[in-house]
Amino acid sequence: MLVTLKMEKLSPSAILREDLSENELGISLRVCYNCSTCSTICPVALETGGKYNPRTIIQLANFGMQEKLVEDLMPNVWDCTMCELCQEECPQNVNLHETFIVVKNAAALSHNIPTSYTSETKQVYENGKAVPLQPAIIKRREQLGLPESYNIDVKEIQTLMDMTPAKTILIYEEKREATETQEEK
Ligand code: SF4
Ligand code: SF4
Repeated sequence: MLVTLKMEKLSPSAILREDLSENELGISLRVCYNCSTCSTICPVALETGGKYNPRTIIQLANFGMQEKLVEDLMPNVWDCTMCELCQEECPQNVNLHETFIVVKNAAALSHNIPTSYTSETKQVYENGKAVPLQPAIIKRREQLGLPESYNIDVKEIQTLMDMTPAKTILIYEEKREATETQEEK
């Protein structure tokens, strides 16, 4: 709800700037001394030859260059798999994990979010779980001797999600997909 209220007044970059200000997270960032441990250990940085670099995200966040993170996605925070290796090894205990979460949230508010994330969010919104129960899954559970899957109160999940910007993001994505389909015809 707080984010929804902020959205009415601030851009996603400005929300991120606020989220990384003089609070606990902001203070954690300020102690980064650029040692590059995070970027040397990050599997995605290694795999992409440094194109994705967690240290750059921390630097940009510290320099107040939130637009680059949120609007340009440079580096693309969605490449981060949230494995937390960087955080475990950071000698300064910088809270990289929480930083990536707030950057991802701001990018999502800016509609810079991969379809894989929005489609999974849609599944959760509509079914209460990311992988809805299907006959094949039910049968497999029986074969493996697993108990029946819990019934989910979808309305309860939707009520909770409606208190976040998730629904706004999903509506935007639906409209965007409809426009793309229309243009392809
Ligand atoms: S490991 Fe920690 S201190 Fe070193 S660059 Fe990364 S965030 Fe900064
Ligand atoms: S949490 Fe993200 S940035 Fe950190 S090591 Fe894992 S993939 Fe790299």
